[in-house]
Amino acid sequence: MSHTVLLGQIEHETNTFSSLPTGMTAFADASLHYGDAVVEDLAGTNTAIGGFLRVADEADWDVVPTVAADATPGGRVTADARETLLEAVLAGIETTDPDGVLLALHGAMVTEAAPDGDGYILERVRRAVGADVPVMASLDLHANVSDRMIRHADGLFGYDTYPHVDIGGTGETAARAMAATLAGDLDPEVVGERAPLLPPLPALRTAEEPMRSLLVAAADAEDEAVPDVSVFGGFAHADVDHAGVSVVGVADRSHAEDTRETCRALADEAYERRGTFDRDYTSVAAAAAEAADWDADDPLLLADISDNPGGGSAQDGTVLLAALLEAGVEDAAVATIYDPAAVDAAVAAGVGEEVSVSLGGRSGENGDPLDVTGRVRLLSDGTYRNRGPMSTGLQVSFGRTARIEVDWIDVLVCSHRQQPYDPEAFRSQGITPEEARILVLKSTVHYRAGFDPLVGAISEVATPGLCRPDLSAFEYEHVPRPIYPLDDGV
Ligand SMILES: [Zn+2]
Repeated sequence: MSHTVLLGQIEHETNTFSSLPTGMTAFADASLHYGDAVVEDLAGTNTAIGGFLRVADEADWDVVPTVAADATPGGRVTADARETLLEAVLAGIETTDPDGVLLALHGAMVTEAAPDGDGYILERVRRAVGADVPVMASLDLHANVSDRMIRHADGLFGYDTYPHVDIGGTGETAARAMAATLAGDLDPEVVGERAPLLPPLPALRTAEEPMRSLLVAAADAEDEAVPDVSVFGGFAHADVDHAGVSVVGVADRSHAEDTRETCRALADEAYERRGTFDRDYTSVAAAAAEAADWDADDPLLLADISDNPGGGSAQDGTVLLAALLEAGVEDAAVATIYDPAAVDAAVAAGVGEEVSVSLGGRSGENGDPLDVTGRVRLLSDGTYRNRGPMSTGLQVSFGRTARIEVDWIDVLVCSHRQQPYDPEAFRSQGITPEEARILVLKSTVHYRAGFDPLVGAISEVATPGLCRPDLSAFEYEHVPRPIYPLDDGV
């Protein structure tokens, strides 16, 4: 008998320190598909929906694609956007009465009306399908997992990598657990334990300790009766009472208590090793000096880690660019500065013409507007398809984009906030990244998946901005206290 499985994606990572509300336009600017377009646009991509669809083909499910929505991280999701997207899922449930529901969620969505946006979605879906229809979700490694999410899900499956190169694989794992459940081979239960830890983003790289060995131990605990154990690093820039590290397992009911003990032990181990989440970063001045002196064959990559739109920053920071211009650094390429007005000015001037703009800095998060004069080299729609290891095949867009050359620094100026983590961010704009001397990227960790093989060295630059790893710069009101590293002696 063929099963009917409903698919949906509602993803947002919410930076509660951002005042920029996330409405339907933000989803439409990034990734928003309804109905059959979900399958047409995401089948074959390294995304959770892509993973669901691979297993759906093998299992011969009748798939009900409802909505796939993912906005660039930013401030709280509006009540209107949340209800509009959720309604697409609930309408699909109402009309098709599915045997199972598979959702791609982020796990760190905060909405205007509810701090636990993902828990709210899971609870509404649970109420719609009743207790007997399995509801499972893939989650980002940066999920802040709440008790409410655990209570209303039959499976929660986290990415095991950061950069997230296993999003499609995580979707497959979730879908295989759904298939086992529908076949009567698994009676799933979700168990979870937390640690009082709020690691900054760069400390969660899975190629490094402590995440590397925590994830190995989690994988060792998995088997047929325990299809998944996930270590969630949490998202430190969401000031909510369920923020922080958690370890979550999906187990057959017969193994639930054992799995809970495994999760507890891993959460305790993460806490014992809390000092290994500490990192050193390069100052802006040191980065500019390093760039001025750089003479190796392969480029030096400067990561503007705090102005990463992929963590909710404004992407209009100018601090690092100003320092490079001041130091006379040449043959550099910068991706990307968000400034729709500067793009308009470049379009008005035209390709090959000189343009003077007051660039970026509107948010005030990462420097002031920077007065520059340069030549417009290229104008485009800013759209490209990822070819690197992360979200491979997914089409993303900077919106209308201008490449403006200022004192032999190619500055990409965009109209949509979008993290430049794939080398296509440069190639689509006519820049061969491996041939530049200096590359500047507004990305915290994800760029490493595609750029590691192309560059000679990487410096993580301690700029200001809403993703800065120094969490003492933020005023927290809701995270559970005490928590490391906010509180001494924890
Ligand atoms: Zn993430």
